[in-house]
Formats: sequence, C-alpha cells, structure tokens
Amino acid sequence: MPWRAELTDRFKDRCLLGEPLSRHTSFKIGGQAEIMVWPDREEEWSWLLGFVRQKGLPLTVLGLGSNVIVSDAGLAGVVASTCRMCRCEVSGHGISAQSGAALDAVVARCVEAGLSGMEKLSGIPGTVGGALWINAGAFGQEAYDRLVSFTALDPEARLVRRAKGEVAFGYRKVEGISGLVFLAAEWALTPGDPAALREIRAATLQARADKQPLELPSAGSVFKRPPEGYASRLIDACGLKGLTVGRAQVSPKHAGFIVNLGGATARDVMELIGRVREAVLAKTGVRLELEQIPLGF
Ligand SMILES: Cc1cc2nc3c(=O)[nH]c(=O)nc-3n(C[C@H](O)[C@H](O)[C@H](O)COP(=O)(O)OP(=O)(O)OC[C@H]3O[C@@H](n4cnc5c(N)ncnc54)[C@H](O)[C@@H]3O)c2cc1C
Repeated sequence: MPWRAELTDRFKDRCLLGEPLSRHTSFKIGGQAEIMVWPDREEEWSWLLGFVRQKGLPLTVLGLGSNVIVSDAGLAGVVASTCRMCRCEVSGHGISAQSGAALDAVVARCVEAGLSGMEKLSGIPGTVGGALWINAGAFGQEAYDRLVSFTALDPEARLVRRAKGEVAFGYRKVEGISGLVFLAAEWALTPGDPAALREIRAATLQARADKQPLELPSAGSVFKRPPEGYASRLIDACGLKGLTVGRAQVSPKHAGFIVNLGGATARDVMELIGRVREAVLAKTGVRLELEQIPLGF
C-alpha cells in the first residue's frame, strides 16, 4: 500500500492530505502539509515514529504552532499534531500534563488548585511540548523552573524519561533534545493562596494585552533577548517599528513582534526579519538570534 494510504487507513478522520498549515499556526501563515495526522496516545506516536523511520519520511511535530514560521511551500512528509494529547492532572503539590495540553490551561489549573510557581506563564499560547522545546518563559518564570521530569520518545520510538537534572537548559534553550517527541511532563509547585494567584494571573494577562499586539496574528517575540538588552528596544531604537514587507509588519505596538496584517506570506516575514537583523547589526553591532523556528525552508 502507498505510504499515504497506509496513514489514512490507520488514522482515518485524524488524517488530512494537503492540509493548509496556515490553519495550524498562530501566524496564519504556511503552505500545505503533505499529510497531517493527530495521534492520540503513546502507542500511536510510537507506531508513527517506526513508520516514518522505515519509509524514510520527514516528520514535523507541531503543538499549537505559535513559535514557528512555516514556509509557503509547506512541509513534505508527515506533520503530526500533539493536540489530541491534552490531559492534565493535579495531584498533591504537583501537576502533570500531556505534551499537547495548552500551557495556559495547565497554568490555570495550578492557579485554581492554589499551586504557585507557574502563574507568570499565563497567556503563553503554546502547548506543554512547545514550552519544553524552548524553555518558554515570561516575567521571570520559565517552563523548566519547577519541572520534575518529562517523558518522550526517541527517534527509535524508545520511551525515555529525563529528570530535570539530566537536561541542560537556559534562556530559550534546551540541549540534547533533538529528535525527541515529548509526551508528558510533571512539575512540583508550592502551595499558595488561590485568590492571590488569580490576581497575579489576571495582572499577567493584562500586561500581555497592554504590551503585545494580540489583535493580529503573530508568533510572539521574533528574536531572543541578546545580552545587550531587549531585542524590541534595539529594534525600536533603530526606528524600525512599522517597517513593512508585503503584508508582514514590525508591530508599531511592540517592536519585538512581527505581525501578519492579513495575507502575509512566510517569504514576507523572512525578508522582513532579514532587514531588521541587518539594520540592527549595522546600527548597534548586535546580531539578533531568532527565537521563532523556521520550518520547511
Ligand atoms: C502572542 C504570542 C505571545 C507569546 N509569548 C511568549 C512568551 O511570553 N514566552 C515564550 O517563551 N514564548 C512566547 N510565545 C511563543 C510560543 O507561544 C512558545 O514558544 C510556545 O512554547 C510554543 O508552543 P507551541 O505548542 O505553539 O509550539 P509549536 O510552535 O507548535 O512548535 C515549536 C517547536 O517545538 C517543537 N515541538 C512542539 N511540541 C513538541 C513535542 N511534543 N515534541 C517535540 N517537539 C515539539 C516543534 O517541532 C517546533 O520545533 C508567544 C507566541 C505568541 C503568538
């Protein structure tokens, strides 16, 4: 049986051919996935990893697509979404969640349960898996701060469990995870007052709405924070707010964001990123490093 038919047969209504990835990215940008599947349990991921390995197919794992720039040409091979793996459970002072759970939903559960340590991650619009990939963070908290361990499948579909102490991580950086598919994670938190935590969560969400251009599609901060200070301040100081290529624009509200004004292409975004980097390098000598992940270029 041809490989696409095999996948369709296996995943049935959880499999789409030629699926536009603009539907699965917060930027609303991206060509088609040759085939997109939604595994909903560990055994299916394990089967899928064996399948792509045996057939020599590229595999791209996608959470909520909020930190990626998918090329206009789309992605060859298999795109697998974690979004059907979204269980989350509070137990004692800990919380565990599957990799496709929305990070913000996990944070909300912690807050309601009176567990402190993740409340400042409120409003990050990705999944647990995406947060583990890059050590997502905000307002002084990071996904790895309270992490106890994660489980994942390696490219040979073997189940691995890593305790936090076995992982080298830093600011928007995690080492030694290439080729892993995260399945779940657990965190240990500190008991706190739910009312106070609710206030912090509300203030955090408000700060995001005040500062960030949430009314337009984007993939959050384009660049990592360089040692010289916030990327957004450098970009702003170079007079680049509002710079536009095609339908992609450096947000006039927050210079660290590129927004899709409607109909932007990945090419527009990449071209704009290039111009921003060049201008910042020329004017300040700082080389900005991408936080967003280009896929399919
Ligand atoms: C408005 C806005 C605000 C944001 N604010 C913040 C912020 O404050 N702080 C911050 O850190 N980020 C922020 N982001 C960026 C983004 O939300 C985070 O990086 C988030 O962690 C990405 O999760 P995701 O599920 O969307 O990942 P995706 O974009 O789907 O994937 C990102 C990468 O992770 C990999 N990946 C995802 N899941 C798995 C898995 N289960 N196993 C293996 N690999 C996986 C993908 O292959 C890809 O390489 C923001 C984005 C937006 C749009």
